[in-house]
Amino acid sequence: MCLWRGKSGYKPKFTTKETWLNLRPTSMQQVWTRGVWFPMATPRFAFIVWLAMQNRLSTMDRISVWDRGVDTTCVLCKLEAESRDHLFFKCVYSAQLWKSLVKGMLGNTYSEDWGLIVQKVSNGGCDKKLLFCLRYAFHAAVYGIWRERNKVRHGESVLPVETIIKLTDKKVRNKLSLVKMKRKKGMEDILSYWFQTRSS
Ligand SMILES: [Zn+2]
Repeated sequence: MCLWRGKSGYKPKFTTKETWLNLRPTSMQQVWTRGVWFPMATPRFAFIVWLAMQNRLSTMDRISVWDRGVDTTCVLCKLEAESRDHLFFKCVYSAQLWKSLVKGMLGNTYSEDWGLIVQKVSNGGCDKKLLFCLRYAFHAAVYGIWRERNKVRHGESVLPVETIIKLTDKKVRNKLSLVKMKRKKGMEDILSYWFQTRSS
């Protein structure tokens, strides 16, 4: 006799639902989605982050799998091969943006390692203001770097890093002004919190 092993032991019947749940790494997925879809996120930023979380952006390391002759060099630093983990934020160009945005906020726990950053933005448990600023800065930085990379790949010249820092900071500030206007508990002084961490 054939039996199907499910979470609750052996069963004579096969269920699609149980099989799907067994195959899918549910807990892992739930953890990082918290860093992607959160209240007041900007959908077009969140979408790019969602693709990046699954390593589904068309970075050159992935393109080179089916297009062997392609130049995989990162167009932002022109030093190393392009991959998700390089762009976010090991690349010397993107690292300057990331550092400028969050180093003051994170201090000793600051990192340019994708895995560690994802852990940080996905886990709650820290200060509400810090978590929102960190998540939003992460979204704005990933979106900004990806957009810049695409522009340069299509023939435009790379923006000076000071300019991309200014533009990204402006996006974060605009969002924080909106959050402030909503008068959510514990978020009233979020904008001045951002200014403080940026200048420290
Ligand atoms: Zn690079």
